[in-house]
Amino acid sequence: MKKGGKWNTGTSHNISYSPSELFYKLFKKKSCPICNNKMKSNFTREYMGVGIAKINHVVYNAHLHEHQQYYYCEQCDRNFPISELVNHSKDIKEK
Ligand SMILES: [Zn+2]
Repeated sequence: MKKGGKWNTGTSHNISYSPSELFYKLFKKKSCPICNNKMKSNFTREYMGVGIAKINHVVYNAHLHEHQQYYYCEQCDRNFPISELVNHSKDIKEK
C-alpha cells in the first residue's frame, strides 16, 4: 500500500451487449457471413483513459477499458463485430 491518501487506481474492463447481441452470443451458430466457416470468439480492447469505475458498488478512479465482442473467421482472415453479425442474421430471417 502506498501512503499519501490518494485514490485507489484500478483497472476497469467493461463489455456490454444489447439484448439481441446477447441472444446471438448464447444461442446462435457463429458462422461467417461470407464463407459460412465456423468463427472463433475474439475481443478487442480499447483504452478509454482514466475515469470513474464502479466495481461492486465501490467507486474507483480507474483506467477504463471498453471491450467489444468480435468473431474471427480464419478462412477470410477477418474480424466481424457482433453488432454486424446480429444484423446479418436478421437479414437472413427476413428473406
Ligand atoms: Zn469467412
